[in-house]
Amino acid sequence: MKTILEARNVSKIYGSGRTQVTAVHNVSLRLSAGECVVLMGASGSGKSTLLSLLGLISRPTEGHILIQGKNAAENERGRARLRNAFFGYVHQEYAIIENETVEANVMIPLQYARPRPGRQERQARIRQALEQVGLDWALKKKPSELSGGERQRVAIARALVNDPVVVLADEPTAALDSETAHAVMTLILSLKEKGAAVLVATHDDRVAKRGDRILRINDGRLITSEIGSDYHFHKDIIDDN
Ligand code: ADP
Ligand code: MG
Repeated sequence: MKTILEARNVSKIYGSGRTQVTAVHNVSLRLSAGECVVLMGASGSGKSTLLSLLGLISRPTEGHILIQGKNAAENERGRARLRNAFFGYVHQEYAIIENETVEANVMIPLQYARPRPGRQERQARIRQALEQVGLDWALKKKPSELSGGERQRVAIARALVNDPVVVLADEPTAALDSETAHAVMTLILSLKEKGAAVLVATHDDRVAKRGDRILRINDGRLITSEIGSDYHFHKDIIDDN
């Protein structure tokens, strides 16, 4: 399958001296079109940090992120352009803006898209994204009028309004009851059919079971890696699961 996104020997170190934390340690991975990869690990294992590196939100201390085989841009403008052209993010805390309508929240990625679609096209895309998550009725609502599951669906609509090539979802079901969580995962998985590569970080087994493949992260290291040269293989940990 075609590799869309790749991390090559990526590390992220926060802080310096005695407070230094290696949140991601020499991680290599590949994501292909049309697959859903689940990134599993305990709280603090480096999932969010890895997602932010892959999504060009933060920069690796070492290593490289490649998009469609090419090194991601170095300069901030280039990175911002790639971020908007390629990625849809579903953030851990939804990152919904409370005092804006659902419509305005879903519009955010379109505001930053270059070229920016015209007003009519923006409205059509917002409507389409909200229809996909079953929230077309909520266009003019405020987030405070919605339930937790509905708010998460707004966050998903916002992630897909730009037709992203890669969808990065950080614990998208963590705050949801199991029925709503199942529905939200079904929605995220449906993005594969449009050819997107989907990466879902979670520590929920029920979410993990629905992915095509599982990557496990522990103390910033991937335990299973499909790239041979920097394979961290801890058989005992794999056998535990
Ligand atoms: P997870 O998402 O799996 O819970 P994180 O990526 O949030 O893990 O965190 C991994 C490690 O990096 C943790 O030890 C965390 O405390 C640390 N960390 C995360 N973000 C920062 C930051 N901005 N500054 C310093 N340390 C951080
Ligand atoms: Mg996290």
